[in-house]
Amino acid sequence: MSVSTITTKPASEKQVKFAKSLLEQRAHNFDPEYIESVLTKGSTKSASMLIDALLKMPKVVKPAKDEPADGIYKVPANGTVHIYKVYKMVHGSGRQGVKSMSVKYHDDGTKEGVFTYIGLAVKYLPEGAEKMGKEEAIAYGKMYGFCVRCGATLTDEKSIARGMGKWCSDQQW
Ligand SMILES: [Zn+2]
Repeated sequence: MSVSTITTKPASEKQVKFAKSLLEQRAHNFDPEYIESVLTKGSTKSASMLIDALLKMPKVVKPAKDEPADGIYKVPANGTVHIYKVYKMVHGSGRQGVKSMSVKYHDDGTKEGVFTYIGLAVKYLPEGAEKMGKEEAIAYGKMYGFCVRCGATLTDEKSIARGMGKWCSDQQW
């Protein structure tokens, strides 16, 4: 008698290849370890979900000539605003790196911004990215309840009222 099992097909070679090309073309905000696990151990379904999600991320059209300046950038895409942080990478080349921000929801209803490194800013900061001014960052912070510059959940009253953490508020914008 045979035991019926649910067989999970591993991600196909074609899917892995397509996902890899999308990873090159899109300014995503997925954890590199997660991507690696989907591509090496994931099922056809998880690979297809990753591909769908990547297709929704902004395109990296062409590299900028100059290294973009430090700061928080916004890119409107698919009816929402994607946020990126450009910063000087301390380790390694000293070049500008870029991180993509995603929103993490806590059980208590608060949120925090999580920044994931995606690559060199000249290559991965999406075309059309605009630097966010302090006022705009504050408005965003008040709306989401976390500091857009560092991602920290705003907990004390002063920071909540300010829409930004104190340290970040004192920095150059
Ligand atoms: Zn902050």
